[in-house]
Parts: sequence; C-alpha cells; structure tokens
Amino acid sequence: LSWDNLTRETAEALYEALVPVVRAHDERYYRHDDPLIPDSEYDRLFQALQRIEARFPALQRDDSPTQRVGFDPLDAFEKHTHPEPLLSLSNAFDAGDVREWYARCQRGLADAFGDTTPAVVAELKIDGLAVALTYTDGELTLAATRGNGEQGENITRNVRTIRRIPLALNGEHEAPASMEVRGEVFMRKSEFEALNDRLRNEDEQPFANPRNAAAGSLRQLDPSVTARRPLSFFTYGQGPTNGPVPDTHSTVLEQLESYGLPMNPHWTRFDDIEAAVDFCTGWVEQRESLDYEIDGVVLKIDRHDYQEELGAIANAPRWAVAFKFPAREATTTLIDIEVNV
Ligand code: NAD
Repeated sequence: LSWDNLTRETAEALYEALVPVVRAHDERYYRHDDPLIPDSEYDRLFQALQRIEARFPALQRDDSPTQRVGFDPLDAFEKHTHPEPLLSLSNAFDAGDVREWYARCQRGLADAFGDTTPAVVAELKIDGLAVALTYTDGELTLAATRGNGEQGENITRNVRTIRRIPLALNGEHEAPASMEVRGEVFMRKSEFEALNDRLRNEDEQPFANPRNAAAGSLRQLDPSVTARRPLSFFTYGQGPTNGPVPDTHSTVLEQLESYGLPMNPHWTRFDDIEAAVDFCTGWVEQRESLDYEIDGVVLKIDRHDYQEELGAIANAPRWAVAFKFPAREATTTLIDIEVNV
C-alpha cells in the first residue's frame, strides 16, 4: 500500500477497517488497563487514521478516535462530570514536528500579540494515568480519572490511600476556596518490579508495565487494594479555581509546589525553541536514569493569554504538544486488516 497513489476508494475501505480496530485498542488500554499492543504500534495505527483524514477530510467520522479523548468511564464507578474537559495532547515525533508546532503557535500569535518568540515550558511526560483532584478550602474532596475527557470515574476513596497525595494542602501559601489540581498517578520502576514479584508469589497475574500497574491499581472497586499498591504522583497543572490565576503556566507550577503538592523537578522554561528541542532530544537517552517511566516531553506555551488566543482543536489544546520518544526496540507493525475494495 503506497500513500502516494492511495485512491479514495482504498482509503475509505482502510479507514472503515481501522476505526473499529483503534477503538478496540482504546477500550483495552483506557477502560481495562490491558493493552494488546505496544504504544509505538498503536501510535502508527493512529497516525494512519490521521493521514487518511488529512488527505480525504470528507471521510472523517464524528466518532473517529482522532476526535475523542480516552474512553467512556466504567459503569462500576460513580461518574464525575469535569467542570472543564480534560483533553489529550497532539503528538510530535521528531525535532521537525516540534518546530512545526512552534511555527504554528508563532503564526497564531503574530496578529494579536506580535510576539515572534513566545516562551515555552518543557515538562517530562510521565507515563501514568491522569487524575483531577479537587481541593475545597485546602482539603481533598474529590478525585476523578480523565475518562472520555468530559466524564471520568469518581475514585476519591482510592486516591485518599495514596500517601504522596496530600489530603490537605499544607504549604507556605493559603490555598483558594476551591481549586482543581491535575497530575499523573504513576508507579516507580523499582516498586513495579517488587509488586510483580509479590503478585507472582501469590499466583496472581503480574502487570505488563508500570503504566498498566498504576492504572490497574488505581481503578479498583475496593480501595483497600489500592492502599496496598505503591503509587506516586506528580502534579503538572491546574483546572478551574476561584483563586487568583497567575499570568503564566510556570508561575502556576511554582504555586502548586508551594501548596505542598509533589512536583517533578525537571521542568524548565525556555525563551528559545532550539534549546527546548535540545531538552526534548536529550531526554531520549537520559530517561533511562530515572526510576519512573516517561514517554516524552510536553511543551506548553507559557503565557495564559497566549494559550487562550491559540485555543484548542476537538481533543487537544493548540498551545501544547507532546514530543514522543521513539520506541525502545524496533518493532514491526503488522496491520493485519482485510480491505475489500
Ligand atoms: P497522551 O498520553 O498523548 O497525552 C495526554 C496525557 O499526558 C494527559 O492526559 C496526561 O495524563 C499525560 N501527561 C503526563 N505528563 C504530563 C505533563 N507534564 N503535562 C500534561 N500532561 C501530561 O494522550 P492520551 O490520549 O492519554 O493517550 C495517548 C497515549 O496512549 C499514546 O501514547 C498511545 O500510544 C497510548 N495508547 C496506547 C494504546 C495501546 O493499545 N497500546 C491504546 C490507546 C492509547
């Protein structure tokens, strides 16, 4: 199959075959924490969908995986409607993609602000599970998964068992009356190995990787199971709040840390996109030195008024991009789909 001479007819048949396959992988990954294929293979299937949609926009279905976030929450959990949606991130697979993303931001800001070099914040992309934590008068009152972005699962009782997540904000600053904190629950590699050893000894099924272990441990109906799992947390952003909102994302990160929330120490603010690109590519090797999995680097335009101007597409903000690391080992993607044309 060649992309260059792909006919509409073949594209349509391939598209209609790919959509249910990608959705099935989404369901395994997001709903059941039990993926069948590595992320790198999934990303290639997803990119194939994106390429077909870019070439033949009329084929795009409203329920296309490219237009959605995650998967619907499980019925077993009480549902929580997010006051503001939790979106996904657009991907960049190499330095060129990052530069293209930045050039699009520059173009989007040129008219309104005339700023040709907007600063960016680079953060490690922690490979875990997104959660939204609501603090009311400084107390943790609600925790939810991202779910389909609009509605997540209420996992408050489970999150309360994670020691790294403060039940009360106790930092140097007084917290606002209501504030949503966003971040990633994950499992350290060393803890993951120890947990799998324990599960094997108890004749239970070990987890495939730390991300699945974190997601599977957090999304338990019995919080006492979660309590026995070694989960960690890093915050990376703020949702709706009735407190004052600083002008920049970097100030939000400083503020979140000042409330006593765990913050990954490796985030950096860059005035120069080439320095940010070097940061991204540098972490491809450096990630092996960490005791937790990262699957990329997230770049975010620092100023909030710039973010607002750039806005979002259906399922991701335009002001951020995820630089995804190449797969560790070379894998061959077998797209085993019968296309009848
Ligand atoms: P994403 O992982 O590409 O990006 C969004 C998420 O990044 C956020 O929800 C948040 O959880 C996380 N994140 C981590 N650190 C962050 C930071 N510093 N700032 C902001 N966000 C941060 O988007 P997605 O929609 O959750 O999932 C796509 C990913 O899931 C891809 O990597 C894909 O390969 C994988 N996936 C794999 C399968 C499979 O079958 N193997 C199926 C579906 C999805």
